[in-house]
Amino acid sequence: MTEQSPALDNLLTESRTFPPSDEFAAQANAKADLYAEADADREAFWAKQAERLTWDTKWTTVLDWTNAPFAKWFVGGKLNVAYNCVDRHVESGHGDQVAIHWVGEPGDTRDITYAELKTEVSKAANALASLGVTAGDVVAIQLQMVPEAIFAMLACARIGALHSVVFGGFSPTALRARVDDAAAKIVITSDGQFRRGKAAPMKANVDEALEGAETVEKVIVVKRTGDKLEGEVPWTDSRDLWWHELVDGQSEEHTPEAFDSEHPLFILYTSGTTGKPKGILHTSGGFLTQTAYTHHNVFDHKAGEDVYWCTADIGWITGHSYIVYGPLANRVTQVVYEGTPNTPHEGRHWEIIQKYKVSIYYTAPTLIRTFMKWGAEIPEKYDLSTLRVLGSVGEPINPEAWIWYRENIGANKTPIVDTWWQTETGAIMISPLPGVTAAKPGSAQKALPGISAKVVDDQGNEVGPGGGGYLVLDKPWPSMLRGVWGDEERFKETYWSRFSEQGFYFAGDGAKYDNDGDVWLLGRVDDVMNVSGHRISTTEVESALVSHPTVAEAAVVGATDPTTGQGIVAFVILRGNAADGGEAAIQELRNHVAKEIGPIAKPRQIMVVPELPKTRSGKIMRRLLRDVAENRQVGDVTTLADSSVMDLISSGLKSGK
Ligand code: ATP
Ligand code: MG
Repeated sequence: MTEQSPALDNLLTESRTFPPSDEFAAQANAKADLYAEADADREAFWAKQAERLTWDTKWTTVLDWTNAPFAKWFVGGKLNVAYNCVDRHVESGHGDQVAIHWVGEPGDTRDITYAELKTEVSKAANALASLGVTAGDVVAIQLQMVPEAIFAMLACARIGALHSVVFGGFSPTALRARVDDAAAKIVITSDGQFRRGKAAPMKANVDEALEGAETVEKVIVVKRTGDKLEGEVPWTDSRDLWWHELVDGQSEEHTPEAFDSEHPLFILYTSGTTGKPKGILHTSGGFLTQTAYTHHNVFDHKAGEDVYWCTADIGWITGHSYIVYGPLANRVTQVVYEGTPNTPHEGRHWEIIQKYKVSIYYTAPTLIRTFMKWGAEIPEKYDLSTLRVLGSVGEPINPEAWIWYRENIGANKTPIVDTWWQTETGAIMISPLPGVTAAKPGSAQKALPGISAKVVDDQGNEVGPGGGGYLVLDKPWPSMLRGVWGDEERFKETYWSRFSEQGFYFAGDGAKYDNDGDVWLLGRVDDVMNVSGHRISTTEVESALVSHPTVAEAAVVGATDPTTGQGIVAFVILRGNAADGGEAAIQELRNHVAKEIGPIAKPRQIMVVPELPKTRSGKIMRRLLRDVAENRQVGDVTTLADSSVMDLISSGLKSGK
């Protein structure tokens, strides 16, 4: 790469904008002056946001950054996170408000009020304490989306224990690695889980994982599938306890203890999209402040009025920050759904929105593209008129998917917030404000008030309008990670070494500014393709492909090419009713990309595939496709949702189809 070449080329332009309606803007929680207020005095701004919470002892210093990159926020403050998410709402007279409308996959439901939540969390906290769990201990939780998962997380927070939630679909090996890494003392799981109408074992996998595990003293088992599950639930009498037997008999009273603002709250592993997952550590006061602040402003949440639904799994950071902590701190009424979006039919989400009158819906681009593939006639059958804010997280949302979401789910009028953040950032960092920002499909647009982000070049200098480069965070923020569990060096090396001179945080994403200075996320810099000296982002080529009417999903990678350095190889999934993927159709797609963003981005090869390799959180794992395109053995697949996908793709490629 020559010195002059930009870190990333800017190829795709988008001119459509969607300002909020006057009506929406007038009632919005966040008004435009929030930016100026935060800029005037950042620390005073965050101190004001921290007042959303109830503190036992007020902090003396807002931010201590003297030991950077290890931040301390609200130093000297003390609070109990679970008290903030539960008890205080009961004390303020909202005990009868529904906190959780839980919907089981088979159709069973349960409405849990704040008063009931307080009882359940208190009993669970007493149960954990009765097993000798104390502040600082680690509890691993491998549960599907059942209410007990939330009770267990809050019970840990209540007694100052750290939870480490492991996605319910992870293998015994993945669970064991996480249990050992954090030296978990307790594991909480279930007998089995419902998946696409069938009961699948969980406890049996946990037993396999824990064979010879030295730190685990007790395993607590939630009964979920019961006699729907085939065979016996394996049991070790000296170690295993049923949740209902242990918890039901406990006292409903539990006095929450106040912990230091920097007391560890949880460990959570990243999705593993780019490599081996990292165990990210989050603490209490700053994390809860920023999750509550963003949930209030980005989703325009009104306590007691809105019905909110975040479709993430609690095994991911989105479930932690935007199902459990931020929303509950804000006294949300929310839907929690156990199952997959197509069980028993492809309209399940819309049916749930209609039934509970959901007004705020937060999901991932991968699911939106799946809904597109299934067809607009499905949501059309349901009454979605209660929806007033839509959100997206997890990957760049292609402009075409954004437009589809707004037209078909948002009745052509709801604001869409495209929220950029990471496990490491703990909370949303870059996003439109729904009552302020004129939204642009595909752009996350602007750092939130109180947050500072920049797009910089190789030397760490900010690029100008229209320029592309590395997305960095140049100022500390309250919910920032406090480390990689047990590995200070890895923390510094992974996030702070690339721009150590400037003291920037960098976690691997490429981005650009458009001519208005709005930020566009362009995928991982590790995935950037270098074609004849042009640095082309995967996102732009994928968005160009998805803008063709026949394409539902696309993933592109750069494969070594003798003449151009790298050549673009695209993998596409066609829409349900679309063309057959023959030669002529492929040629048309190649020309379409050339027309949309220029001949330089024309894929060398396009493969029609039935599926793409995705993490369990729905992100496309391009590194595996690159392995395929370059004929290598495929790398670490432990966080892949379905490993057979890779065989399907590889065999298609070899036969030249
Ligand atoms: P690993 O770090 O293990 O490779 P991961 O980065 O996928 O996994 P997460 O923390 O779950 O783990 O995901 C954060 C990443 O998701 C971001 O760095 C970014 O690449 C992507 N992302 C999230 N939201 C958005 C968004 N709105 N627009 C673009 N990209 C997004
Ligand atoms: Mg990451």
